[in-house]
Amino acid sequence: MSVLVTGGAGYIGSHTVLALVEAGIRTVVIDNLSTGFSTALPEGVPLFIGDAADENLVEGVIAAHDVSAIIHFAGSVVVPESMRDPLAYYRNNTMTTRNLLNAAVKCNVKNFIFSSTAAVYGNPDQIPVPEIAPTRPLSPYGSSKLMTEIMLHDVATAYGLNYVVLRYFNVAGADPQARIGLQTVGATHLLKIAVEAATGQRAKMEVFGTDYPTPDGSCIRDFIHVTDLAQAHLAALAYLDQGGDSVTLNCGYGRGYSVLETIEAVRRVCGRQFAVQMSPRRNGDIMTMIADTARIGRTLDWTPRYAELETIAAHALAWEEKLLQAREAA
Ligand code: UDP
Repeated sequence: MSVLVTGGAGYIGSHTVLALVEAGIRTVVIDNLSTGFSTALPEGVPLFIGDAADENLVEGVIAAHDVSAIIHFAGSVVVPESMRDPLAYYRNNTMTTRNLLNAAVKCNVKNFIFSSTAAVYGNPDQIPVPEIAPTRPLSPYGSSKLMTEIMLHDVATAYGLNYVVLRYFNVAGADPQARIGLQTVGATHLLKIAVEAATGQRAKMEVFGTDYPTPDGSCIRDFIHVTDLAQAHLAALAYLDQGGDSVTLNCGYGRGYSVLETIEAVRRVCGRQFAVQMSPRRNGDIMTMIADTARIGRTLDWTPRYAELETIAAHALAWEEKLLQAREAA
């Protein structure tokens, strides 16, 4: 038996593959390498370079590797890009999952874990936001993920498939041993930008909005360490293996840090200052996003280990330094 990971060469996918391999779980990856890196995979993990939408490929891999569960990461994740080209998002996220599910149903794969996002909530009325909150995505990215969630629900009802949907909050950090990390070109996430500034790759960074009605005026996010998130997928797999019912779970820590606090944490761990400019609010930003974690807490056997902001910042920084050294050596 093995687990098929789509998008396993990407940021969250590769950390999950590493966690699966370290747990002794046989793993096989499908990734089209559009944004992922084959070098992010541990040695010996079979990689099929192709699309998760390619049903022939998926069915072949399921049969050849005796796949009993699928963890589906493959997709597009850039919110502004989804505004410019929504149809690409409905293809890469919604339609791809439709084909993948068709292959899973045909091949009788019963367990399915899906990467969703807190972006399905849009602007929440309630913080921390529970899973039962209204879903009003503000971007085609969020809508494409929400449509997939709806599709999964219908597929589960009709064909007896079981799923765990994980709605990720703000994923950050890197493998604690700096073996892998975020290497997507042009990533715009706060911690990535901050560690680029800390390593001298940017002359300065900006804080988008300092006049929000929060304690320090900047936005607040529930940053989750990518290695803890990877472990949540393993816990979800165990839950489904033990016969757990289909469920949708927030995946965050239930606490928030402000943008300014996050930048301060990066400054502390790197030990030097870098220029930070206070800028106007960024269009579309939500003021505060924090997960209500009650449901994941009672559903999965999952104990986060890296929730300290300084730990997340330190791991992101160590990985960035390694990436920079590799680039300079090349
Ligand atoms: N942010 C910032 N400067 C940056 C990047 C991000 O001030 O260079 C802020 C952004 O406006 C938001 C928060 O950091 O309030 C988190 O943004 P990110 O893009 O990391 O994730 P999002 O929450 O938008 O998915």
